[in-house]
Amino acid sequence: MVSVMNNQNILVVEDEEEIRELVRYNLTKAGYAVTGAASGEEALRAIGSTLPDLVVLDLMLPGMDGLSVCKIVKSDPRTRDVPIVMLTAKGEESDIVAGLELGADDYLTKPFSPRVLLARMRAVLRRKADGAETAAAPVQIHNLVIHPGRHEVLVDGVPVEMTSTEFRVLHSLARRPGWVLTRRQISDAVHGENYPVTERSIDVQIVALRKKLGTAGDYIETVRGVGYRFKE
Ligand code: CA
Repeated sequence: MVSVMNNQNILVVEDEEEIRELVRYNLTKAGYAVTGAASGEEALRAIGSTLPDLVVLDLMLPGMDGLSVCKIVKSDPRTRDVPIVMLTAKGEESDIVAGLELGADDYLTKPFSPRVLLARMRAVLRRKADGAETAAAPVQIHNLVIHPGRHEVLVDGVPVEMTSTEFRVLHSLARRPGWVLTRRQISDAVHGENYPVTERSIDVQIVALRKKLGTAGDYIETVRGVGYRFKE
């Protein structure tokens, strides 16, 4: 197999050398230029000197943890557009939720296969390249068509009646297929930031939506402990 350099720079932040080198080996083989960092502080220095195209960020790091790194990267205008794929330990759903809400783009739970990491990274980089999706553009996915302007949803060409909150929940998920959104992120998309809404009320909207969408409701997946995702 011939790998082609694609000139994309990936920063891999992981203190466990074995995992870092495994990731580096596989990403290099796939044609990426890889920089490694063994701590959060080292990661920030690396990002400060060369802006990477994507960061693979372990959350469990000595000293400054991954969530703090994520927060700093995503709150600085110079670095906030750099996609972050988090690596987390099993059972750390609250960290995953916190990371996604800080702006991380995706996550993988350890142990993970390098093949899956590559697929996730490619999806995140692709989304970033397509980036300029507008909120007003109709969404066509599977057998659904969603017209934000008209507040209209068609399943197999047949209109489905729903409340405007249900519509917005569906739209926020379907316009980003494959993304996991936390309940808070869905709520923010529906009501604007800081609208007091319980996680339970989002669950209630999802139940109602699935019912109204019939078989198309299966495209809304529950990601246990984290949130919801519209199937790609
Ligand atoms: Ca670690």
